[in-house]
Amino acid sequence: MLAGRAILFAGRRVSCPCCGWKLRSFTEGNTSLKMRKKGYCPRCNSKARHRRNWLFLKNHTDLFKKPTQLLHVSPKYALARRFAKMANIEFTGIDLEGRPFAEHPIDVSDLPFQTNKFDAIICIHVLEHVVDDRAAIHELHRVLKQGGWALITVPIDFQRKTYEDPAIQSAEARKLHFGEEQHWRIYGNDFIDRLTTAGFDVELNRAEDTPNSTQERFGIIENEHVFFCKKKRSPHGNTTQ
Ligand SMILES: [Zn+2]
Repeated sequence: MLAGRAILFAGRRVSCPCCGWKLRSFTEGNTSLKMRKKGYCPRCNSKARHRRNWLFLKNHTDLFKKPTQLLHVSPKYALARRFAKMANIEFTGIDLEGRPFAEHPIDVSDLPFQTNKFDAIICIHVLEHVVDDRAAIHELHRVLKQGGWALITVPIDFQRKTYEDPAIQSAEARKLHFGEEQHWRIYGNDFIDRLTTAGFDVELNRAEDTPNSTQERFGIIENEHVFFCKKKRSPHGNTTQ
């Protein structure tokens, strides 16, 4: 189905880095034939944020070249379908529930992996779904090798502090307060503190750091910021204790 639709959308105006296809337009998603600027890829259903993250990984990491033990938390189909097949990547996907490319149920705030195991972690729009996100960030830091990196993204509003309230529990209330039934908070400008508190060195790559022409070409939207986190090296090296 996707492959057939991709032919209908073949063109030159935009392109999807996740599947390499050149297109007339992005779409409304799923099997829709409706065009949407900066929407979903008609061939691989990548979202704007997946294309943005793909380009970031391509330009800022060795993921496409170096032998890499990769942990993908709640694997995003458009990325995982490629990474799981790449010869240099040893791929581990995890999720609380069953989804393609994921072992389950595995809770990101209590990972069943040894310390210093992975060279790289991808965690895209997951932490806002996790009740104890500080525990999850701690776990991501723990299982990463020293010198390893984690690409982390969350929906974020830099104009405010993180808004959360453990008293807000029901799906309806969470939708009202946090915008989605599944979300536990709206992150704000203190998000980096949560990452550094767990021990990460954090580089913020803002959406606006990507040139406009690239954003147009690959259908990237304005609020896709990347928190590129590195685990510091210690004199004791990568012990697995
Ligand atoms: Zn695509």
